[in-house]
Amino acid sequence: QNHYDVLIIGAGPIGMACAIEAKKANLSYVIVEKGALVNSLFNYPVFMTFFSTSQKLEIGGLPFVTINPKPNRNEAVEYYRRVAETFALNIHLFESVKQVVKNEQEVFEITTSKTNYTAYSVIVATGFYDVPLLMNVPGEDLPKVTHYYKDPHLYAFQNVVVVGANNSGVDAALETYRKGANVTMIIRSRELGPHVKYWVRPDIQNRIKERDVKALFESELVAIREGEVDVKTPEGLITIPNDFVIAMTGYQPDFAMLRKFGIELPESLCPVYNEETMETNVKGLYLAGVVCGGLDTHKLFIENSRVHAEIIVKNIVG
Ligand code: FAD
Repeated sequence: QNHYDVLIIGAGPIGMACAIEAKKANLSYVIVEKGALVNSLFNYPVFMTFFSTSQKLEIGGLPFVTINPKPNRNEAVEYYRRVAETFALNIHLFESVKQVVKNEQEVFEITTSKTNYTAYSVIVATGFYDVPLLMNVPGEDLPKVTHYYKDPHLYAFQNVVVVGANNSGVDAALETYRKGANVTMIIRSRELGPHVKYWVRPDIQNRIKERDVKALFESELVAIREGEVDVKTPEGLITIPNDFVIAMTGYQPDFAMLRKFGIELPESLCPVYNEETMETNVKGLYLAGVVCGGLDTHKLFIENSRVHAEIIVKNIVG
């Protein structure tokens, strides 16, 4: 009874969209999710606002209603839970997929942290939020360092370093500054990241100009210790007092897992798949959602990858 037409790995927005399409096509399916429903969104900062409008986050044709110009993390979590309820999606939560192999009958055998399954097709919709890009500096493993910024209150009246100046870094700097933290941004390039939300950019620019938030451009964090950090700046090495490091240095798909499943990864680390069918080099094994982008995590988001669901299910049925 653990056999399905389709097994979907990951209950993010795109894994859920795949399940809805599978259900509509009368395929038997299960989503196996290692954490909570929409686990990546659940782990986003509590006050995070999406850059997409709510219509662009919709799946299964269900309206996502909000009175805000852009929805926030809490509304999105609420929306996707209601989607799961409305379609009565078959989801196994807190169960991690460990291995996917094909047997001699050309059927996939899937091993998870809890049990085994078989399936004719497997869709990998595992996103990119589980593996942070590390800075590889001494002290990065100290408990005061995080790659997952959550709630600004923790940082009130503390010396905080924020590494990176894309959306996550800018949001963390502004929010912690507004809760009374003494914030220094450490930015490798000469300017703020090119994708910073257009309505947030003037805010951070003004805070930096007023020196409310200190910004060290063309600088790199080189060492972290209890109570202080070393920063390489154009003027030389400096040491500043520090209680917390928020490292917003980006994330990457779990490449080791993709390789383990037999998916080819060229040097660019952009996984090999047919863009017309989303099928990988392994017949019957599909990629869906932002995992497809490899290291280029700015290329795909919800609005331009939710179509993967229809493409894949059409290919499976066909
Ligand atoms: P995810 O939502 O990441 O889902 C992948 C799921 O797979 C996770 O729940 C994970 O737990 C699960 N998983 C991973 N490995 C396994 C395993 N081995 N076994 C079982 N389950 C597993 N996109 C937008 O479109 N608009 C935005 O405004 C936007 N803002 C963003 C802000 C931030 C801070 C970040 C980090 C991303 C943002 N994105 C935005 C990108 C957004 O995260 C993705 O577009 C969206 O989450 C992708 O959905 P997905 O289903 O492909 O992947």
